[in-house]
Amino acid sequence: MIQPVAVIGAGPFGLSTAAHLRGRGIPARVFGEPMVSWRDNMPAGMALKSTPAASNIDAPQGGHTLVDYCAAAGIPPLVADDDIIPVETFIDYGTWFQERLVPDLERVRVVSVDRRANGKGFELKLDSGESFTARAVVVATGLSGLAHVPPELAGAVPDGPTPTAALSHSSQHHDLTRFAGKELLVVGAGQSALETAVLAAEAGARVRVVARGRGKVAFGDPPWRQPRFRPESPFGRAWSLWALSYYPHPYRLLPAGTRHYLVRRVLGPLGAWWLRERFEGAVRVREVERIVRAGAIDGRTALVVRTLQGRTEELAADHVIAATGYRVNLAAMGFLGHELRTELAVSRGTPRLGAGYRSSVPGLYFTGLPAAASYGPVMRFVCGTEFASPRLVGHLAAAHG
Ligand SMILES: Cc1cc2nc3c(=O)[nH]c(=O)nc-3n(C[C@H](O)[C@H](O)[C@H](O)COP(=O)(O)OP(=O)(O)OC[C@H]3O[C@@H](n4cnc5c(N)ncnc54)[C@H](O)[C@@H]3O)c2cc1C
Repeated sequence: MIQPVAVIGAGPFGLSTAAHLRGRGIPARVFGEPMVSWRDNMPAGMALKSTPAASNIDAPQGGHTLVDYCAAAGIPPLVADDDIIPVETFIDYGTWFQERLVPDLERVRVVSVDRRANGKGFELKLDSGESFTARAVVVATGLSGLAHVPPELAGAVPDGPTPTAALSHSSQHHDLTRFAGKELLVVGAGQSALETAVLAAEAGARVRVVARGRGKVAFGDPPWRQPRFRPESPFGRAWSLWALSYYPHPYRLLPAGTRHYLVRRVLGPLGAWWLRERFEGAVRVREVERIVRAGAIDGRTALVVRTLQGRTEELAADHVIAATGYRVNLAAMGFLGHELRTELAVSRGTPRLGAGYRSSVPGLYFTGLPAAASYGPVMRFVCGTEFASPRLVGHLAAAHG
């Protein structure tokens, strides 16, 4: 019997990879909850920062773009750069894509992946109790388990961040109405921090954004104010964005320090142009040099901060949300067996990938966020599926097809 390929993940990257495998007639078993990060780990009422053109889940055949979904669902088409995509529409698009192209998705967790004793293929265990052998494995687990809370904040919650403790991570909130009438500090200056702050304020919370550094809270230019004489990319007009979007091939050949720096910095903290109006006047901003520590005092949460003037101050609120992003760390991917993890070539906790998204373990591939340190910041976004999926599946078909 031909062993299938296992795809772990049913977000945009897993679904797109699965569609490409299917397009080539390669048997695959696909695992995960469809679009769960978008459904559970992002706030209700959120809108996508990416434009419609940069929000397609790539498929090998036509007819599966966001515009195609809008037509099928009978909703107004989302096409122009200033059309804003509600997260609920994007979830419905992903679900529609899954139902059409990955109908046999198994909503089961993969508990462990280990290399087979004979070195050929992998042994997978599912939380249904089933075990099976796969000839290759694609890890597309996205944001799962990678939420990052910096140590100076984590100290406030020895049992871990939760919405009912002193401090939580932004990924733990779907419904921000729970903060109505409460005082809230949101740490961060990226889109997630700024939009979480706006949505909480609109729900009736008193919100301050605590941004580390001067002038860190900023918003992008609307499409009609983008520079005209620079090439267009899904993220705006700039040579750097154009190169990173359409030519990520040589990215993995850059020095490690440069790669890790660019992944963090390019397309980094910047609010969407359409959020500015809702933010200003509704949310206060406190710029600080750094946060020294967080703790609980009299049932409130306090951040001890170093101000831009060099003083130490205390900011108190009912709750703190750390909108401090995600950090890829293989150690957090507990489903990868210990031996497999020690065998993998890594760079600062991320898998080092070669051509075709292959890792140093033959037959083991990574796509999406875990591939960003090798293929660049475009891998943090849905539009990265267009580059990644055909190449990954092309390599897999040639090497293990
Ligand atoms: C607040 C916020 C806003 C964002 N806005 C945008 C935007 O506007 N545009 C954009 O392009 N990107 C945006 N992103 C980034 C976006 O989340 C990623 O581009 C995208 O979700 C990555 O898709 P993915 O398929 O790699 O992973 P995910 O969407 O995170 O999916 C992970 C999948 O893995 C599955 N899984 C995990 N572990 C296991 C396991 N052990 N067994 C089985 N299945 C497992 C889950 O069930 C899930 O199906 C945003 C991110 C955040 C946090």
